[in-house]
Amino acid sequence: MINIPKGTKDVLPSESYKWQYVESVAREVAELFHIQELRTPTFEHTELFQRGVGDTSDIVTKEMYTFKDKGDRSITLKPEGTAGAVRSFIENGMANGVLPAKMYYITPAFRYERPQAGRLREFHQFGVEIFGAKSAQTDAEAILIADTLLKKLGIQVQLYINSIGCPTCRAEYNRALKAFFAPHLDGLCYDCKTRYEKNPLRLLDCKEENCKKVNANAPKMLDYLCQECKEHFESVKACLDLAGVAYEIDPRIVRGLDYYTRTVFEFVSTSIGAQGTVCAGGRYDKLIQELGGNPTPAVGFAGGLERLLIVMEQTGVEIPLPQMPTVYLAGMDDECRKKAFEIATKLRRAGIIAEIDYMERSVKAQFKYADKIHAKFVAVIGGNELLEGVMSVKNMSTGESEKVAFENATAYFQDK
Ligand code: ATP
Ligand code: MG
Repeated sequence: MINIPKGTKDVLPSESYKWQYVESVAREVAELFHIQELRTPTFEHTELFQRGVGDTSDIVTKEMYTFKDKGDRSITLKPEGTAGAVRSFIENGMANGVLPAKMYYITPAFRYERPQAGRLREFHQFGVEIFGAKSAQTDAEAILIADTLLKKLGIQVQLYINSIGCPTCRAEYNRALKAFFAPHLDGLCYDCKTRYEKNPLRLLDCKEENCKKVNANAPKMLDYLCQECKEHFESVKACLDLAGVAYEIDPRIVRGLDYYTRTVFEFVSTSIGAQGTVCAGGRYDKLIQELGGNPTPAVGFAGGLERLLIVMEQTGVEIPLPQMPTVYLAGMDDECRKKAFEIATKLRRAGIIAEIDYMERSVKAQFKYADKIHAKFVAVIGGNELLEGVMSVKNMSTGESEKVAFENATAYFQDK
């Protein structure tokens, strides 16, 4: 017996309609904002993520699925969607096309993490990227797309926003952070000691209890923003006010990826405990340049489908059930089953969901099965019916029966 790898999940046929529902709402929301889908490969050159996600991020230092392929190239399964989208934007010369270039994706992502509820090694993201626009309205728009999705899904969340400034104002902030953390270094975790040297901002993102305690009193980026970053942040807030979207400012949000500048945001649900962040994103004006493109401002976000579904389940959001069969055609014997097969084929060609017996069961057992699969009607074909050219159709919700001629079957079930 070979088991499923740790941190991965099967989506069973009986559950997949829930995923399809969330995905279809995500596509619908993207369409509403006039955003088309981008599909990029599941694996990329490792260097893309090292440079794109950032050398000091947890993702690159500990979580990537990296391997050598048979041609000795270092390949990595995508741990997130943005780096691949940026690579594609540059490689396909989208900067020379219509700007802003907007795109969305629904993709699996891979991170070697400690599996927990809402934290998997293969998970799925819905993400949106907007390239080429630097206005604060664009940041607000990205937030609004996520907000629209969450509202359509019936998910209650709190929106937290912050600004982590630009490289200019962050330099001074980093100095302030280092000065603040220096006397606390001994009490910090091993990772934070490295972060202290390489990228002090990362310290604020640590999930260790001790580090979190120290972090609580750390200086805040918002107090160090340069004039332009301050104005940008004020405009983002004004746009959100205009849109009537409630938010809280959380100076501790720095995001797990290295490429963010200015606005960062997280939508957090209180109903699923520690893994409460369902959607997260921000502005990343330096990334496209970092990956070899011309300097291009950008903003985006990604939401975890697993976490969205967990929240929906825990808060009792009703997900529309998949379509049930309109009719189950039961046959008494082989001849009758043949007729059922023939009629089912006709019905399906006319777009009517029809089911038949594949198991050579008795009529009684077929009725049981029809009930299990929630067929709306059961049409029985027995010896007499076969002679008369009719079937006895039972409406499973009212219990009423009537005879329907074989040749009228399509017309009868058409709008049922
Ligand atoms: P966290 O702080 O929870 O580790 P993150 O900052 O690493 O999240 P992002 O890289 O911003 O997450 O990914 C966007 C979204 O993808 C998250 O808000 C979350 O909903 C989802 N996500 C991230 N990692 C996982 C995972 N291992 N399993 C399931 N969903 C995940
Ligand atoms: Mg993470």
